[in-house]
Amino acid sequence: VQVGAPLLGVDENWQIVVCNQPAMALLGLEGSAPPIGKPLAQLTNHPILHLLMKADNPEQASRGQLTLPNGSSYSIHSTLVHGLGRVALMQNISEMKELDRIKSEFVAGISHDIRAPLTAILSYTELLERFGELNARQKSFLDNVRKSVSVITGLLSDLLAIGRIEAELARQHSLIDVEEIAYSVVDMLGNPAELREQKLSLEVQENLPEIMGNPYRLRQAFTNLVENALKYTPEGGDIKVELLSKDDQVVVCVSDNGIGISKEDQDHIFERNYRADNVLNSYDGLGMGLSLVKSIVEDHNGRIWVESTPGEGTRFTIVLPTYRDML
Ligand code: ADP
Repeated sequence: VQVGAPLLGVDENWQIVVCNQPAMALLGLEGSAPPIGKPLAQLTNHPILHLLMKADNPEQASRGQLTLPNGSSYSIHSTLVHGLGRVALMQNISEMKELDRIKSEFVAGISHDIRAPLTAILSYTELLERFGELNARQKSFLDNVRKSVSVITGLLSDLLAIGRIEAELARQHSLIDVEEIAYSVVDMLGNPAELREQKLSLEVQENLPEIMGNPYRLRQAFTNLVENALKYTPEGGDIKVELLSKDDQVVVCVSDNGIGISKEDQDHIFERNYRADNVLNSYDGLGMGLSLVKSIVEDHNGRIWVESTPGEGTRFTIVLPTYRDML
């Protein structure tokens, strides 16, 4: 097949029927004979390719992303071809991904950097008025300054929201390292914990398997759980994040020694807008976090549950299947 992009096809027995030169190069097979007739598993053990090319994958078309050891990324589009099997077309997106990363970093950085001087401008407008009477004209100029600042602040929020929406949209699942995500969450929330003299620790079992998932959304889920643990634990408390693997699953535990949740409330906290009696009047919140966490975990074919004793502490456990489980 003469196609510039890597193209790979398997029949219903998972044997290669098409593998063009670019695909051979991608799989590190340059120079060898075309692997027609060989089983896919003999050619590559890349889980994403296996998942997308699975013989009983009922989807007409599936998409995924693959990163090679040399760092280059490919988007893969696999299609069911009746009478043949599945065909995957791959497109090198390394450059696009790098540009996207640079752009996101730039937008986030700029938005952040603009905030500080804006706050300074606002506080100087207030100071001006404190140090002497201003005439009507000067006051109206100051008003204009404030209005313009608030317009920029609004634009900035939109910009940040777009960044968030983009992250939200990044729904594609890829092979991810849960430890890396947990580490970045604990790192990000280390300061708030320190301010409250709380101990926030991360314990990770060695050789944790990777899972198929969306890193943005999992990060959001872990962040919510750890933020809750910090919020509902008094100053000086202990918050622990533990990662371990069990029966081809990755287990994530977030535990605290905070105010706890009564048995009756435990049945409802994953519902949207539900907040327990012991937090209603003393802690801010909307009751949205846990319902979001639950839907993210379920999107990853995982489970979440809570164990808690009022006055002693709470432990949330998430179990996520590894990709091997999904093959
Ligand atoms: P929010 O924290 O905004 O109220 P969530 O959906 O994140 O909303 O949590 C729902 C409820 O579950 C909380 O209002 C609180 O009653 C309870 N909760 C969640 N995490 C904890 C925790 N670590 N310790 C005690 N209670 C918790």
